[in-house]
Amino acid sequence: MHNVDWKIECRNLGLILLLAGLVGWAVGLLPWLLFFSSLAYIGWTLFQLQRIQSWLSQKADTYPPESKGLWGDVLDGIYRLQRQGQEERLRLQAAVDYLQDSFASLDDGAVMIDKRGNIEWSNVAAEKLLGLRYPDDQSQQLVNLIRSPEFIRYFEGDEYSNSLLIDSPHNSHYQLQISISYFGRGSRLLFARDVTENNRLQQMRKDFVANVSHELRTPLTVINGYLETLSENIGNQGNVQSIDITPNELRWRRAVDQMLNQSRRMEGLIKDLIALSKLESIPEDSKDMPLEVEPMLQAIREEVLTAFKGKREINLECDSSLRLVGNSDELRSAFANLVMNAAKYSYGDGVITIRWYGDTRHCYLEVEDNGEGIDDIHLPRLTERFYRVDKSRSIETGGTGLGLAIVKHILLRHQAELKIRSTLGEGSTFTCEFPSMRALAQPHTA
Ligand code: ADP
Repeated sequence: MHNVDWKIECRNLGLILLLAGLVGWAVGLLPWLLFFSSLAYIGWTLFQLQRIQSWLSQKADTYPPESKGLWGDVLDGIYRLQRQGQEERLRLQAAVDYLQDSFASLDDGAVMIDKRGNIEWSNVAAEKLLGLRYPDDQSQQLVNLIRSPEFIRYFEGDEYSNSLLIDSPHNSHYQLQISISYFGRGSRLLFARDVTENNRLQQMRKDFVANVSHELRTPLTVINGYLETLSENIGNQGNVQSIDITPNELRWRRAVDQMLNQSRRMEGLIKDLIALSKLESIPEDSKDMPLEVEPMLQAIREEVLTAFKGKREINLECDSSLRLVGNSDELRSAFANLVMNAAKYSYGDGVITIRWYGDTRHCYLEVEDNGEGIDDIHLPRLTERFYRVDKSRSIETGGTGLGLAIVKHILLRHQAELKIRSTLGEGSTFTCEFPSMRALAQPHTA
């Protein structure tokens, strides 16, 4: 179609020049007639260009001037492209409006921030939660409007993998969870979620568990005391056969023993629940200090050997020049839990190795055993409260299902991680990986 128009235009120009040439030749003014006809053609072309220019300077949706031939085609083409561009723009605008509408209707505060940290847009909830008004605060630096030091540190830290919990800078009754992500070319999208109710419920749950545990502890201590006395009085020490007791007494003794076992288990459970509650309520770093790890591990080793009447072999491999900065009671409880588990879930000839060492990035407390091991499918859930691979086995060994949850909690408070490697039937290795900032070299003694 376009080629045809070009050909027609060329043919028309050829015909004009031929006609002018023939007439010029006939009247003896060939150059003049050729010159004037070319001039007329250029003039007409300029006229068409001028029409295009004045049309283009009008509003975008005005129709092009009526024109035929090649020029009509050019005008139609430009008009078509203009309409396409316009439709594309409208579609994009509709998409942007749709997105902004959906963000605007969110209960969470949403704020778009450009790469210089200026506010581009914010929704209605951002006004309620963060005190940001749109469009009044547009182009303002976000950190000039939210001045909480914690927030500024988080916003400027550029490390947004974890969210931030703060009180609302606008209304301190609200507790907010702030999360930020990058999009486009260095722009950021901030979400502020109201977690006040969530936190209140969590606190209620923690208080409830802590209160119930405390309330149960006293009656249970009394019950335990009486059961122990009863058990001793019926003569349950040593070899049953060698003591002269009636069948009735024997029945009672069995019943009392079972009751004592169960109430001791319950006591252990309550002790662990109270320990967990304490860990949740006491602020981190409250009692941090440099600790000698080797003597601590030696004491744990003795305790476990005594508890298992020497039926396990426990080896210690310690870098005694390395100290650990942390809370002594908490770390002792975590390490003891791991060594105790290694002994509990091993067999009679179990060999346990405890290692304490460091490298440039971390220091490690490792407990390795050659016990029953754990199937891979259980590993991700092992530190959940009350998660047990084999419930009856755990109850039989006096487990509460809270040991590893306590270990994980204590490690979190020391910015450390628990890593577990295990092969079913071959054994397990539990490694506490502390950041190197928690390691201290032993001072030289003279
Ligand atoms: P429990 O009080 O039951 O021992 P824990 O939280 O200490 O609870 O451990 C959870 C579960 O992980 C245990 O029930 C046990 O199945 C498994 N486990 C822990 N340590 C070991 C280990 N060293 N070897 C094999 N299994 C283990």
